[in-house]
Amino acid sequence: MKACIRRGAEQIGGSAVEIIASNGQRLIVDLGLPLDAENNTADLLPNIKGLINKSDDLLGLLISHPHQDHYALGQHIDSRIPVYMGRIGANILNIAKQHNTPNAVSFDKVEVFESNKTFEIGTFKITPYLVDHSAYDAYAFLIEADGKKIFYSGDFRSHGRKSKIFEKMIANPPKDIDVLFVEGSCLGRDKSEKYETEEDLEARFLSVFKKTEGLVFIQASSQNIDRIVTVYRATKKSGRKLVMSGYTGHILWGLENPKIPNFTWPDVKKFATDETAPHNVTAEMMSLNPNKYVVLLGGSIFNQLKSTDLINSSTSFIYSMWDGYKELYAERIEKMKESGAYMEDIHTSGHADIPTLKKFVEAINPNVVVPIHTFFPKDLIAMFSNTKIHKDNEVFEI
Ligand SMILES: [Zn+2]
Ligand SMILES: [Zn+2]
Repeated sequence: MKACIRRGAEQIGGSAVEIIASNGQRLIVDLGLPLDAENNTADLLPNIKGLINKSDDLLGLLISHPHQDHYALGQHIDSRIPVYMGRIGANILNIAKQHNTPNAVSFDKVEVFESNKTFEIGTFKITPYLVDHSAYDAYAFLIEADGKKIFYSGDFRSHGRKSKIFEKMIANPPKDIDVLFVEGSCLGRDKSEKYETEEDLEARFLSVFKKTEGLVFIQASSQNIDRIVTVYRATKKSGRKLVMSGYTGHILWGLENPKIPNFTWPDVKKFATDETAPHNVTAEMMSLNPNKYVVLLGGSIFNQLKSTDLINSSTSFIYSMWDGYKELYAERIEKMKESGAYMEDIHTSGHADIPTLKKFVEAINPNVVVPIHTFFPKDLIAMFSNTKIHKDNEVFEI
């Protein structure tokens, strides 16, 4: 078996790995949009034969999780190429597409898989492992062919709401791995730094909710489900109600998980312009009791509220996303500042910190570890003597 990182050897985002069996059959693992791409266009597709016109030897595209930097170039490929992903991940993409969110893609031909259930694609045997990540329904893959084993970590962490899954995996890791592709988002950062957990954030949110006299606004991703659960738990403890857009509510409903907040819960509300549904909350209702609500700024909520008096000096604004997206939200950040709102950043990474990365690689104990999804691949050499760096488009034997 051979492998080739088509993109991602020296960057975070745009990951794509091609796996080639000795009989010539090929699989693609992830086909993401590079983070620095200005537009999502077909000319960004990595150099992989058969993507635009399917060739018989290209058996399919495996998608690890519903983050753009792992799936979004998939929209340009030949629709005859089967796409494999988790069922709930596929739901998320479909719902995002229905709501016309930027870079939303829904695939015509999706084959869904389940965690720990091995399936075959031609000569390849694939076993998905559910992982803890800021995307819901995220997987690592064990890929077997020609008597060899590859493990692809996908994006993962151990400080999210599914930290137990990480502990379970390292207690019973896949064995005899020839090559481990490990995401190294954290490489280049402080080695001893442990990232805050979602539980740490919950306490911080709660403390802001308690001391705020007016409304609390939160800028978070509608698809960062761990974060929404964190915010919900703090909201509940504070005695407030959580208000969100119809889009955010639709995503939560699409997870088909009754333990995730949804509009059938009395303390989860939909921002609306009328009171026709029992779960609707209007701007007027919030202005009567602003200290009773926490508002997730998804959909068009900010645009509908920006000229009301709900944003004032007794408001709090919590930015709960990656810093790099701040320029996208410059208008609302400026508006909150001008209004004298209390402002705080409460966020933690979706990716493993260095101590977690170490634990993970040591538990899997592969013959060779290959960094991917990192700007600092060479940093892995100092951590593991069996590190092998492969550049984009370099085909190598497993
Ligand atoms: Zn991700
Ligand atoms: Zn990623």
